[in-house]
Amino acid sequence: MSTEDKRLDEPDWDLDPKFDFVDAHRLPFSKDEVSLKEIDTECSGPFEGKDHGRAFTRAANIEIRDLQYRMYTEGKQSLLIVLQAPDAAGKDGLIRKVLGQMNPQGCRTYPFKVPSSEERAHDFLWRIHKATPAAGKVSVFNRSHYEDVLVVRVEDLVPKSVWKDRYEIINDFEKLLAHRGTRILKFYLHISPREQLERFKKRLDDPTKHWKLNAGDYAARDKWGDYREAYEDAMAKCHSKIAPWHVIPADKKWYRDASVAAIVRDTLRDMDPQLPKIDADLDEIRRLYERELEEMNE
Ligand code: AMP
Ligand code: MG
Repeated sequence: MSTEDKRLDEPDWDLDPKFDFVDAHRLPFSKDEVSLKEIDTECSGPFEGKDHGRAFTRAANIEIRDLQYRMYTEGKQSLLIVLQAPDAAGKDGLIRKVLGQMNPQGCRTYPFKVPSSEERAHDFLWRIHKATPAAGKVSVFNRSHYEDVLVVRVEDLVPKSVWKDRYEIINDFEKLLAHRGTRILKFYLHISPREQLERFKKRLDDPTKHWKLNAGDYAARDKWGDYREAYEDAMAKCHSKIAPWHVIPADKKWYRDASVAAIVRDTLRDMDPQLPKIDADLDEIRRLYERELEEMNE
C-alpha cells in the first residue's frame, strides 16, 4: 500500500476477511431458474459496518490497480465487466468508486444508451463488439447487449420472435470472447423499489443531480415486475462458467462497492497476470547508464 493511499487514522480492520464473495453472490449453476425476490437487497457480508467496508474497498482498489497494470504489460488476457441494474441502483457510483480507479491506460468504460439510427441499422451486437477489450485491456459496460433482451422486451421495441433468439446469440457471442482470452464478469445491482424511490428523492433535492431525472424512470417503476421477469430470464438463460452473473445486494452503497471490488480483485488474482519477460541485456544497459553518469559528472 502506498503512503498516499494509507489512512493513518484507520482502526485495525481486517482488510482481507475470509469471506467468499463469489460464492455468496454468483448465481448457482445448478438451477435453471432465477428468483430475484428470494435474494436480499441488503447485506453486510463479513464487515463490521460502513467504515470497515469502505476501508476494504480502498485496499482492494489498490490491488486491482496493480493487477490490472500487470495485465496491461502482459498484453495477453483481457477482462470484460458488464453492469446492469434498474435506475439509481448505483452503476455510476460503482464506476466512480471502484472500476474507474483502474489505470486509464488499460481500462475504458462504455455507456450504452438508446441506439442511434446507425446502430439500429446493424445487428444488436455491432456496437457491443467494437467495445470489447483488446488483449491486455479492461472494458466496463455501463448497460450492455442485455438491454436488447430487457428494455427491448418490456417496452415491446421489437417483436418477441426477434428478441427470443437473442439469448442464444448472446451465449455464442460471450463464448467467442472467452475463446480469445477474455474473462467476463456480469453484475446485476439489486435494489429494492423503496430504496430506488429514496434515491429519486435525493436526485430531486440536489440540483447537481437534476440532469439524471427522467419521467420515464417512474414509468419503469410501474413495470417493476415485468423488468424483474426479464432480468430473471436473461440471467437464467445466459449464465455460464465463462460468463457468470452475480447479483449484488445494492441497497447499501458501501457494500455494493466492497463486494464488486472483492470479486474483481479475486478474478484478477486468479488470472495471475505476469510482467513480461524482457529480452534486453540488463548488464549492458546498466553499463551504458553508468558510462553516461560518469560522463555527466566529469
Ligand atoms: P442511462 O443509462 O440511465 O443514461 O439511460 C440509458 C437509457 O438507454 C436507458 O433507458 C436504457 O434502457 C436505454 N437503452 C440502452 N440500450 C438500449 C437498447 N439496446 N435499446 C433501447 N434502449 C436502450
Ligand atoms: Mg437513467
